[in-house]
Amino acid sequence: MSKNVLKLQHTLERLSSLLRAERRAFQTKWGLLPVQFEVLNYLASCNRFSGTLMAICDYLGQTKGSVSQTIKLLEKRGLVTKEVDPNDKRVSRLTLSEEGGHIVEEYNQSGMLLGLDEETTSSTQASIDSLLNHIEKNIRVKPFGFCENCQYNCVISDDEYYCKLVKTSLTPDDVVKICVEYETKTQTENQQSG
Ligand code: SF4
Repeated sequence: MSKNVLKLQHTLERLSSLLRAERRAFQTKWGLLPVQFEVLNYLASCNRFSGTLMAICDYLGQTKGSVSQTIKLLEKRGLVTKEVDPNDKRVSRLTLSEEGGHIVEEYNQSGMLLGLDEETTSSTQASIDSLLNHIEKNIRVKPFGFCENCQYNCVISDDEYYCKLVKTSLTPDDVVKICVEYETKTQTENQQSG
């Protein structure tokens, strides 16, 4: 590993430990285990196609049994609701309850990124997206990207989008969410050439 890659790895470790420390105090306040908070956070940022047990397992890299237990506890606390998909009775759709949403909203008020200007935010986001994409490929896990960057996303107008995979219209709110069906152009091209 080159010196620069090693430096990057140390920086990522540092970022990760700062994030964990910030979360720890918050989780204690709400009496949540780290995995419970991760499920709430995922449900707050995923789109309407991605609130399923299997998508959460893929996202967290955890087993079905353990995620299922976590969801049961969150349901019991009234933080998550489960409903059978009217179009496919085999699938249950999970969403945040009002209280669950309130908890994530409070966490999002954290002052960690306060004062970061728009330009730095955009350039850092682009670099981190590309790094995440690289890591997901290296460790062979399913990518979860923002809908607006997906190869199936077609821009119809400033406030209208269309998903060529699910064949449905998308709103500006939809396209800033993460999706279990997300695919980057490179990913599809690689699959086709492989
Ligand atoms: S465009 Fe891609 S990310 Fe967006 S909903 Fe469709 S499959 Fe999911």
